[in-house]
Amino acid sequence: MGKYNGPLCRLCRAEGTKLFLKGKRCLTEKCGLDRRSYPPGHRGSRISYRKSNYKIQLREKQKVKRFYGIGEKPFRNIFQKAAKKKGITGETLLRALELRFDNILYRMNFAYSRAHARQIIRHGHLTVNGKKVTIPSYQLRLDDEISFSEKSTKNESIKTILEDLKGLVEVPEWLVVDGDKFTGKVNSIPKREDVSLDVEEHLIVELYSK
Ligand code: SF4
Repeated sequence: MGKYNGPLCRLCRAEGTKLFLKGKRCLTEKCGLDRRSYPPGHRGSRISYRKSNYKIQLREKQKVKRFYGIGEKPFRNIFQKAAKKKGITGETLLRALELRFDNILYRMNFAYSRAHARQIIRHGHLTVNGKKVTIPSYQLRLDDEISFSEKSTKNESIKTILEDLKGLVEVPEWLVVDGDKFTGKVNSIPKREDVSLDVEEHLIVELYSK
């Protein structure tokens, strides 16, 4: 995502919500947001700021981009495609983000974070419907099956990661996973309530509609 290289927990504090950027640590009491839940730069003061509408819309967009780990240009492209489709644009946008290969791999419990999922995908460890796919933004569809390549299932570090992640978080209902066979499938198209981020997507639509 973008060019941000600073401490990841700082991003969560800026957005005031858990973005799950640090893998297992995010699930423990070590989570930086649980300990310090105020925005960075304010030294713990609890002053509330009156934000302009524009700033609120901008923050909402930034939050979604950081959660899914996407830069401005690709994010705008996804939005534009969503806007052309029938239905509620904000929901179409979120659905497209959920159906990204990197997000699905993470939600299947096959990677510690979305960034980690991108790394595994780029390294060529995975196939979709039997064909190697190395593009993290690849859009999966209903009934698509993902699996680790035969070579990767024998790779010790991959095996250790998958063993470590097994059952760590609940896999959402729209995905099915066979952890022993290193495979998963898109069982249904994710609904709005399947998005785990607390977001008001209509604010992003308003921002881009200006
Ligand atoms: Fe965000 Fe908490 Fe994970 Fe840090 S540990 S990246 S604050 S969710």
